[in-house]
Amino acid sequence: MAEKKTKTVKKTTKVEAPVEAPMPEPRRSVAFIGSECYPFVKTGGLGDVMYALPKALTKQNCDVKVILPRYKCIPEKYQEKMVYRGEFMMDLCADGHQYYVGIMEYVWDGVVYDFIDNEEFFGWGNPYTNLVDDIPKFCFFSKAALAALNYMNWVPDIIHCHDWQAALVPVFQQAMFGGTPVAGAKSVLTIHNLRFQGIYNNETIKYWTNLPDALFDYAVLQQDWVDSNMLKAGLSYASMITTVSNTYAGEIQTPFYGENLDAHLRYHNHKLRGIVNGIDCDLWNAKTDTLLTANYDSKDAVKQKKANKLALQKALGLEEDENKFVIGLISRLTNQKGLDLINAIMPALMDGNTQVVVLGTGDAQYEDAFRYYENAYKGSVCSNIMYDEGRAHMIYAGSDALLVPSLFEPCGLTQLIAMRYGTVPIVRETGGLKDTVEPYNEYENRGNGFTFDRYENGLLLDACNRAKTLYFTDRARWDEMVVRDMEKDVSWENSARQYRNLYLELKP
Ligand code: ADP
Repeated sequence: MAEKKTKTVKKTTKVEAPVEAPMPEPRRSVAFIGSECYPFVKTGGLGDVMYALPKALTKQNCDVKVILPRYKCIPEKYQEKMVYRGEFMMDLCADGHQYYVGIMEYVWDGVVYDFIDNEEFFGWGNPYTNLVDDIPKFCFFSKAALAALNYMNWVPDIIHCHDWQAALVPVFQQAMFGGTPVAGAKSVLTIHNLRFQGIYNNETIKYWTNLPDALFDYAVLQQDWVDSNMLKAGLSYASMITTVSNTYAGEIQTPFYGENLDAHLRYHNHKLRGIVNGIDCDLWNAKTDTLLTANYDSKDAVKQKKANKLALQKALGLEEDENKFVIGLISRLTNQKGLDLINAIMPALMDGNTQVVVLGTGDAQYEDAFRYYENAYKGSVCSNIMYDEGRAHMIYAGSDALLVPSLFEPCGLTQLIAMRYGTVPIVRETGGLKDTVEPYNEYENRGNGFTFDRYENGLLLDACNRAKTLYFTDRARWDEMVVRDMEKDVSWENSARQYRNLYLELKP
């Protein structure tokens, strides 16, 4: 038999370049100016947004610089990586005194972070202390941020400032930086929480800003006969105002949610938009989260969440039982977060099959109340009165449900993180909670969580009981909701696109 000749064809393997989605044109440059940013310094949701949104915008063809104060409390591991970028002197107050402005730079993940350095204002440690110190600190910061952009000769198309601490940026820009490069940029001011406005007496704000008398007027800074309001002035001067959900954008124009600025916001509502926040899905990823006992995705969540639950119970000294219904609460302990409702229903909630895990710090009355409940329901309630990122991850993964019954909630991130970790949110229908949690519909077997509308104890208890009923009587449907929640898109991508479209509308 003739030997079969095999022709060897030398295959050249063509290495295909990964197909990347084309970047939307044109490119936009944006300076983010705000008072906190994860991982350098974070006290709440603002810190998360200042980290995640710039990162998401770089994928939308935006060139982003984040300008922050260089607080002493920024961990050493970041401080030592900062590179000196320059320094100059700047006037601020009516007396003409010159203040030092240093710029320290840190580039990470496609985003440039520029820290404004000044020992006198930021050498104290924590970002917020009290208004006596904070008002001068953020007057200085807002002006120094603009001066730094001119100094670095980096003139953005858009200056995007955040909350009252950076609200004077558009005001300084137009009142004091006319004729300089930065004057041409458009400004966006985002309200993350309208409750905090930077209100202080006229003389102090006049002294620390040296703004012209004409701006101490009801249309701009004036709050009442004695006080000025920094956020109010920013809202007047910004080219565009955004807030962190559509529902909150509507709510803040009403007296109940408007924090005395509802009329001012109604006046400016032609330039007010709501864009809901997302979360950083790399940072919050149960599959890769190194702080969890068992990693999981939507396919094995039901099994692996039990392992995380048992580990959480063990770590916190709770009765170890995977069949208990574990409710988490991760929150600043202030009256905004609906803690009065939770306190009122705690005895009714504790039925022998339920455990409650609290993580938060804040007002003494709430801290004490949760300490009391821990003692009263030993083994079933654990109150962690502290700020602890690692513990937050364990609670998101190990709980069955997360409570967010807020009195008001501009967006809320904890319900988004909870859903990403397959933990079912129980929320009041307000602000971003209403926009992000679709109520469970038992007839169509859809929805992401349990909701209630009016701010009443009975309605929160009813929502918790509806959640428990599903959990204990129809586990299959509960588990389907866990999977639905994990697969819900809570990323920044969609929202970053909306911000980008807004930047494009604002022609420099
Ligand atoms: P806020 O009104 O405080 O900004 P958000 O829901 O928008 O509320 O964001 C809160 C963020 O802070 C979330 O990332 C949450 O996980 C985190 N957080 C709140 N309290 C604590 C705590 N005690 N320990 C760790 N993280 C916390």
